[in-house]
Amino acid sequence: MNVNQQPPMASPYGQPQPGYSQPSYAPLGGGYPGPYGPYSGPATAYQPGAPQGSARGPPPVSTNQAYSQYAQGDIQNGPPPMDHSMAQPAQRPPVCQPYSHGAMNLSGPHPSYPQQYGVQPSMQQMTNQMSGMQVGSGPLTSAGPGYAPPPSSEPPISAAYSAAAPPSYTQAPHPVSGAPSQPPPPSEPAAPQPYYDGPPPSQQPPFPSSAPPPSQPFPSSSPYSGPPLPANPGPLQSLDNSPSHLAPSPAQQTFPNSAPPPVSQALYSGPLPPPDLALSHLPCIPCPVPCRPAPRPTPLPPGPMQQPPQPGMHGGYPTQQNGAFGQPRGPQPGYAGPQYPGQQNYGAVPAPTPAPTQKRLDPDSIPSPIQVIEDDRANKSSEPFTTGVKGQTPPLVTTNFQVKDQGNASPRFVRCTAYNIPCTADMAKQSQVPLAAVIKPLAMLPPDETRPYMVDHGEAGPIRCNRCKAYMCPYMQFIEGGRRFQCGFCSCVTDVPPHYFQHLDHTGKRVDCCDRPELSLGSYEFVATVDYCKNNKLPQPPSFIFFIDVSYNAVKSGMVNIVCQELKTLLDYLPRENPEADSVVRVGFVTYNKVLHFYNVKSSLAQPQMMVVSDVSDMFLPLLDGFLVNVNDSRMVIESLLDQIPEMFADTRETETVFGPVIQAGLEALKAADCAGKLFLFHSSLPIAEAPGKLKNREDKKLVGTDKEKSLFQPQSGFYSNLSKECVAQGCCVDLFLFPNQYVDVATLGVVPVSTGGSVYKYTYFQAEMDRERFLNDLRRDVQKPMGFDAVMRVRTSTGIRATDFFGSFFMSNTTDVELAGLDCDKTVTVEFRHDDKLSEDTGALMQCAVLYTSCSGQRRLRVHNMAVNCCSQLADLYRNCETDTIINFFSKYAYRSLLNTPTKTVRDTLVNQCAQILACYRKNCASPSSAGQLILPECMKLLPVYLNCVLKSDVLQPGADVSVDDRAYLRQLLSCMDVSESHVFFYPRLLPLVKLDGGSLPMAVRNSEERLSKGGVYLLETGLYLFLWVGANAQQELLSNIFGTPTFSQIDPNMTSLPELDNPFSQRLREIIDSFRSQRSRYMKLMVVKQEDKAELIFKHFLCEDKSASGGASYVDFLCHMHKEIRQLLS
Ligand SMILES: [Zn+2]
Repeated sequence: MNVNQQPPMASPYGQPQPGYSQPSYAPLGGGYPGPYGPYSGPATAYQPGAPQGSARGPPPVSTNQAYSQYAQGDIQNGPPPMDHSMAQPAQRPPVCQPYSHGAMNLSGPHPSYPQQYGVQPSMQQMTNQMSGMQVGSGPLTSAGPGYAPPPSSEPPISAAYSAAAPPSYTQAPHPVSGAPSQPPPPSEPAAPQPYYDGPPPSQQPPFPSSAPPPSQPFPSSSPYSGPPLPANPGPLQSLDNSPSHLAPSPAQQTFPNSAPPPVSQALYSGPLPPPDLALSHLPCIPCPVPCRPAPRPTPLPPGPMQQPPQPGMHGGYPTQQNGAFGQPRGPQPGYAGPQYPGQQNYGAVPAPTPAPTQKRLDPDSIPSPIQVIEDDRANKSSEPFTTGVKGQTPPLVTTNFQVKDQGNASPRFVRCTAYNIPCTADMAKQSQVPLAAVIKPLAMLPPDETRPYMVDHGEAGPIRCNRCKAYMCPYMQFIEGGRRFQCGFCSCVTDVPPHYFQHLDHTGKRVDCCDRPELSLGSYEFVATVDYCKNNKLPQPPSFIFFIDVSYNAVKSGMVNIVCQELKTLLDYLPRENPEADSVVRVGFVTYNKVLHFYNVKSSLAQPQMMVVSDVSDMFLPLLDGFLVNVNDSRMVIESLLDQIPEMFADTRETETVFGPVIQAGLEALKAADCAGKLFLFHSSLPIAEAPGKLKNREDKKLVGTDKEKSLFQPQSGFYSNLSKECVAQGCCVDLFLFPNQYVDVATLGVVPVSTGGSVYKYTYFQAEMDRERFLNDLRRDVQKPMGFDAVMRVRTSTGIRATDFFGSFFMSNTTDVELAGLDCDKTVTVEFRHDDKLSEDTGALMQCAVLYTSCSGQRRLRVHNMAVNCCSQLADLYRNCETDTIINFFSKYAYRSLLNTPTKTVRDTLVNQCAQILACYRKNCASPSSAGQLILPECMKLLPVYLNCVLKSDVLQPGADVSVDDRAYLRQLLSCMDVSESHVFFYPRLLPLVKLDGGSLPMAVRNSEERLSKGGVYLLETGLYLFLWVGANAQQELLSNIFGTPTFSQIDPNMTSLPELDNPFSQRLREIIDSFRSQRSRYMKLMVVKQEDKAELIFKHFLCEDKSASGGASYVDFLCHMHKEIRQLLS
């Protein structure tokens, strides 16, 4: 096992590839020395133990399974179809097998040896959005704070009109459905609902001009009357459609490395009271103050914490840092020397100390996220992180670092909760530390890192273990002079196919080891053969189909106009692998309300033709030829169509929509074209029109907080789950852009996107002028982003552990194969592992994640990520090699998913309990003896309490009264495929004081608490979904002039959505920072200016997650005390 060896990286393929072209690499090394020289045909095979058989032909590998099995979902579930290699008894559950291997109808080893592995091109289209990635992580948060929309912004009373609307037009061709639609159920209460999807819609009513058409008897005349489209594509008002796609972030910021080295991890700076004192007084210290947020029950059980303050114990607390203007509170004094040289491992947090004069626990005395982030940045950003050392914990996601792949996958692809896992299930159970990996298989890398190389073994396909089907990787041990290899996962010995033979050097390594990515790197790709394709047929390039809701709300909000205008430009930026070439992705267009309108945009037509399908009960595709087209061929017709759509529906009175039939139509179109693809749905309302998948308004706020709350997150019916299965089988990925003005049942509408690897975007109270920028940036990124189609992911592990649970946006028809109709560069799949046997400290544990997918050019590929971790028999080793950010990512996904079946309170209690057990186990088994009154946290996990509290307080688990059910469902789905960097900023936003923005560095962040804000300052808060610019009431005039162009606080317009472009260095730098933050996130963050003491400040304060929340969430200080109490109970 060469895992620990660092292969010299002098390989010929060592340079990052600039373009996407795929230069095939020159033949490696020339000859194949020795008796096995250039094989051009079968050679003797080396059968294990058996007489030398004539295993001819390449992959002696797999038995033949038709790929079609995969489609049926039962791929590889059975025991590995082994053949001759069955000599060894299978030690592992039959878990593993490849996605499929079709019949091996190869006639012989592929002759062209010098295989080419061109640098992996793809996956990196458009601008490189990863530039500067991982910079300071800002946390990413979701939308969801609780707050009510400012009173002045009343949501449109949309239901009012929908209630009366008769069918707005009759259609020409298909008489079918013609019956007037029944009036929509009076269900939708029109009252302004506090939906919240972000910032409240400015001060005006969402649709200025909107009010539903006045008292309406709707004219029954239809805006259009039939198939032939009007031929006057009047130019729409020209929106700016300059191809500005997500420009690469200009600023590659580097963070100041200036933070004082955390030599002796200071967790706590307060005076250390005598332990006994701490012990005796602990319970009440923290919470003399009303530690229990009054209004709602909080998770914190009553207890000692509620004792009244001890007289005399508390006095004023340390002066706040207001006025410090950005100065972080000083580094905290060190303490608790590291017990393990070289690692700052154990830190003890002296219990909340009752210094005689303290009124409450000093926030500066408890672990500071900022300090941890800064320390990691100072220590780990200067040197590249090399992956050659097994079990090495990577830098935090907030640290800007470079990665060198030396045999394990980069942390940008795989992050683990622990890098030294317990040898036994008992130990694992005792510690309660989750064993999981957050995998982002197609992650984009920063420009200075090499993308995974492409390995092409020609017709022979990838080399694999005979038994478990693991792919060739650095963990395979070559033996018998290189003629066979032993699998690192299952130990089975497999013959090396003749064409792959190579001699070993004196250390037992193949002499070509460093020249082959699959022998020396953690991540690489194989070109898959036809055996890995559905029905043994090479795939067609994918198609994109755009479905635009043209009902009343959609048109009035401006959405239809914006989408049509933007698509004209965007179609030039469809994904492609070679930037020089045209995209091969074909496109199609449909508009709909309660009927669907398909468009024939064949290049030979002078004008597009519309085909209306009004019988939505059994959706079919009314045309084949001319529906899916190549953009360049049909450009004129498409542009004409996109010009005409907004006009055709400008006067629509139709308020009802369908949804299920829309997806069905896309699915039918892809089936007919025999390709995979993505559907883009731009949708505005609850689909109440009579049709399959029709929904009713079931929002019931009374259920919130009850045991029945979970039903709000479950889909209304099984219709969409069934539809998802069909979509996945076809490789039909669905992305949903929602523009709701009221409840739309995100929990149900999101089922298909979430099951197909798609995304949901939500723009509540969409207003063209306010939200256009955010929507268009999201759309541009979504259309252009590198992605794979019709994917299947399998995670193999070495003996002793196995993948048992998966989280993310995908579908599983068996227990091992993660099926993704689409998998883009932003999506993660989180995998939980459990023991099924004892592990060995000597060999560690291995994991291999293989994703089979179709690229945007239609090539079938396999991306492989390998990861090796250590195993330990001492719990202390586990606690020294954990990654808290990843643990929080896992816990939050676990908790959010649990909401489907478990009462929210139970979910919260379980989380608290598990974390308390983790910390109690550490205290009991690893910490040096000390007073029970001291709270002692493992160094690696000292932020577990603060981050856990953020998860518990999130809108999903503890919503404020103004957080809608849709918002919660949306955030729940959003989190399920977040990577660690995104979940970090989502739960713990990044708060930057805007001082001295000079040079390339960023100011050091401050903790998320109101007391860290200075009235004289201006702060930028990044939540991952939003950016807030908080302006203190006494902000310096010069600062205001530099940013806003006015020195007067009162003249700042809180409704601005972008900062004025002023010609001064401060303004330029601030806008650069904002741009670079945006470029690091998968969704565009809208900027909101919040003036101190304005109403909107409530929203902003919601993200100050160390403070008590308006919805009853505990402050960090209070929660830490609560955790301490829990831990003590467990220990006693
Ligand atoms: Zn194996």
